[in-house]
Amino acid sequence: MSATHKETISRVLESQRSFFASGETRPLAGRTAGLRRLEEALQDRRQDLLEALAADLGKPEVEAFLSEFHFLLEEIRLVRGSLGKWLKPRRVGNPFYFLPCRSRVVREPHGTALVMAPWNYPVQLSLSPVISALAAGNTVVLKPSELAPASGQFLVDLVNDCFPPGHVTVVTGGPDVSADLLEQTFDFIFFTGSTKVGRIVARKAAERLTPCVLELGGKCPCVVDRSADIPIAARRVLAGKLFNAGQTCFAPDFVAAHVDIREALVAELSDLLDRLPWEAEMAKIINERHYQRLLALAGDGAVKKGGDDPATRHLAPRILPEANWDDPAMREELFGPILPVVSFSDPEQLVTRLQALPSPLALYCFSRDEEFIRTVLEQVPSGSACINDTMKQGTNLALPFGGVGGSGHGRSRGRAGVEAFSYERAVARRFFTRDPFELLPPRAKRAEFLKRWLR
Ligand code: NAD
Repeated sequence: MSATHKETISRVLESQRSFFASGETRPLAGRTAGLRRLEEALQDRRQDLLEALAADLGKPEVEAFLSEFHFLLEEIRLVRGSLGKWLKPRRVGNPFYFLPCRSRVVREPHGTALVMAPWNYPVQLSLSPVISALAAGNTVVLKPSELAPASGQFLVDLVNDCFPPGHVTVVTGGPDVSADLLEQTFDFIFFTGSTKVGRIVARKAAERLTPCVLELGGKCPCVVDRSADIPIAARRVLAGKLFNAGQTCFAPDFVAAHVDIREALVAELSDLLDRLPWEAEMAKIINERHYQRLLALAGDGAVKKGGDDPATRHLAPRILPEANWDDPAMREELFGPILPVVSFSDPEQLVTRLQALPSPLALYCFSRDEEFIRTVLEQVPSGSACINDTMKQGTNLALPFGGVGGSGHGRSRGRAGVEAFSYERAVARRFFTRDPFELLPPRAKRAEFLKRWLR
């Protein structure tokens, strides 16, 4: 990156710091007014948003509408409506020898936050943390993904219309710009993206002791037990897997089916693939590199619907019905419309296999057997879980969203997002009255009294 670009970033940060120091981000009314402006601007630009997502990812309109436009409006409304309640200082008790004293826990903004976003839900995953950051009283520098340029431009225009640059600034560019941003000292970093880049961000944050949330990826397993309703399971697995052409961080990555029902499940999945008009309603793969990576992982013997189109990067959805646990497709996060189906014969073997993978963002389990569900949930850690469906837990704003271990740490969205972008400050208030238990020497008498009471 050029020196001028670095200077621009330094200037942005300086202006954000002085905006924060001015106290303008603090009043509750100002925060909710900012969120309302954002809500109105999103509504006014709904068509621009859908068009940007179509340009970057060929997102089917219904997917773009639900998962980006409507999701953000819902989050803004929830946060606006509940912020006063969430931010209310919490009164707590005091040890009797401090009395008179009043103690409370107050939520404070971190200051100037950096938000780094990925390309797969390029607007939602940029603005959702921005909503939390503003609600918590921060200023924000947003770095959207360079791989979704139309969405990036949409964000620049939207933010410029809603907020002064000292409050929210969008900085566009690729890894070089990110690297430069990470050379600056922010008060908080919220990163969404790959585990590989997450490590870089965590290292940079650690150098400056900057608190950070890492929303990363991984392989989210989907277990189908022999007690499950197979036709319903098949429908729900495919609906989750093929949304955004499988480019969802908490999509079911692969299916682990009980040997007794594997054949029946594969038959249902193949039938659905064959019968439904997927070609007409599938997003495209984000770029050539990912398209080629997925093609290489697709392997022989796949059950496939339609043809692949390298020109538009539309990849036909496929099932790998005879997949093995050590196949290439089982070694990395797929992030595409390919569904390997592996098998297991007993819960113990299944749990050992799943425990060998990095802890995922989400775990899916289709079963009617409570004992089986309990075993899987207790023994396989994950950031979230959904029983008898896929993805529902990740789209409910009342639930916190985030990973564990290799899939990241910290929580986002709704209340959890506001809490992530703020810290709890402990505030004790005393009065100018005499101290019954003043700890100045000589203290022998007081010690005798305290020893009698404090056992
Ligand atoms: P990515 O890590 O490549 O990019 C994310 C951000 O980091 C982008 O803004 C990018 O410009 C920046 N970046 C890229 N290389 C960098 C580098 N060397 N140094 C500093 N910054 C760099 O991720 P992606 O490909 O955009 O997104 C896909 C990944 O994100 C998948 O692994 C997916 O599972 C994960 N993801 C996670 C969540 C979640 O909420 N946990 C959500 C969406 C995507």
